[in-house]
Amino acid sequence: MTTPLISPITNPMKIVIVENPRPLTIEHYNDVANAPLSASLNSGYALAVARRAGWDTAHLDFSSGNWDATVIAARIMAESANIVLFHWVYSWGHEELVRNVLDLLRQGSSTPLGAFGLFPTLSCHRLLQFATQLDFILAGEFEETLAELLPLFGERRTIAPLPGVARRDEALEPRPLVTDLARLPVPNDVGANCGYTTLNIAASRGCYGDCSFCFIHRYYGCSRRRARDLASLERELEIRLARRDIKSLYFIDPSFIGQGEKECKRVEQIGRMAKHFGLPFGFETRVDSINAGLIATLADYGATSIFLGIESGCDSVLNRIGKRTNTDQIRSGVQIIRESGIKLNLGFIMFEPDSTLAELEENYTFLDELGLLDEHELTANLLYHNQIVLHGSSAWDRFSQDGRLLLDERLPFEAGYRFRDDRVGLVCSAMGRLTAHYFSGMDAIRQNRTVAEHHGGSHINLLLKEVFQALCRAAHSTIPQQIEMVEREYVTLVQSALAV
Ligand code: SF4
Repeated sequence: MTTPLISPITNPMKIVIVENPRPLTIEHYNDVANAPLSASLNSGYALAVARRAGWDTAHLDFSSGNWDATVIAARIMAESANIVLFHWVYSWGHEELVRNVLDLLRQGSSTPLGAFGLFPTLSCHRLLQFATQLDFILAGEFEETLAELLPLFGERRTIAPLPGVARRDEALEPRPLVTDLARLPVPNDVGANCGYTTLNIAASRGCYGDCSFCFIHRYYGCSRRRARDLASLERELEIRLARRDIKSLYFIDPSFIGQGEKECKRVEQIGRMAKHFGLPFGFETRVDSINAGLIATLADYGATSIFLGIESGCDSVLNRIGKRTNTDQIRSGVQIIRESGIKLNLGFIMFEPDSTLAELEENYTFLDELGLLDEHELTANLLYHNQIVLHGSSAWDRFSQDGRLLLDERLPFEAGYRFRDDRVGLVCSAMGRLTAHYFSGMDAIRQNRTVAEHHGGSHINLLLKEVFQALCRAAHSTIPQQIEMVEREYVTLVQSALAV
């Protein structure tokens, strides 16, 4: 008979939320897109829901560092929980480690093992097949599902078949979205979040956009944005600011500024609220929600950073990815933010999979003319980003239908793809390798506590710009080795420019 490694049911019930290990690989060095920023509050909300249901809670964070499966499993078992719920985030081919942990947990106990979050939602059925030890997944927006599941578990000691609960070989009944976000509990502050003096907070959920590369509308099951009642936002701020020393706020809403006059007024009220608390703030928004008056007002209230997902400098690409914006709006948005003095952060997909060489060159000219290629870290980011294809995304479905998906059995949840123009793919790969040298060189510089500018920051910037242009020119050439030769030459130049 197997000795139970997790104690029998105790009173009160207990749930443990586990952050899976997310090792960083050089291929994904600068890819932060494995979860939208809004996911940073998922575990906090899950813990708060469980507390409200009268459950004891624990949060175990294995997201950083090198962890061994046996150590992780032992730590989880030591919590003697009644339900173990993984907040499972894309982990770049390291899913096997989580599966090993699940194996160890399953060997010792029949405690239900579940997962929730973006990745388990998008890859729900594949993940249940991949990790057969998982008993269930909370698919999509999970708070109301969890709030209903916990008391039922208390009564029946089993995971009830509820809307939003996915179980192996059963059809999933979707859970309707939360109608009133003010009814959500105040999220716990846990994990890496607690190490920052910036408080992540949500004033809305979802987005009215449906960009083809984005996960937001897939996660919520629709292109809809729900704004939150401001009294509940203020109450949450009061409670969470009392927990630790906070110096600034970051609104993690996928689209902080909604559409229309009423939404602009609402955002102004939020700015005023932040000012009342004496906290500068940042947020993410779409370029078509930017207007000079509003941004100036928000700057007065203390806005210090805005992230704009501009994605492309070509109208043809913007149309293709369903961004519903144009390059004139981007120019104007960038200009307005610059003039306001607010720091501008950008999202850009240089190597959209259907791009032509002419579109790459158009992107470059667009960025350069806007003065966005003047600083080497930003230049490296803007000139190298390609589209990441993760299982469950619309891109995965499309490339699969087109026969362009490049699968690797060691990576069940991510894939490469064939570019429509192979030459664009060659430039993309060369820029990817070259920027990997750049990022490792910069890491070494940081570790040696020297300042990049001592190593010729403007020179490095120039090299990054030059190599991009040279690779595009080489791609037009009829000499097949031309791209390789350019890459080799610039790898040497970048390495020597960054030599510590
Ligand atoms: S605007 Fe941003 S959040 Fe909205 S769908 Fe597009 S990429 Fe996603």
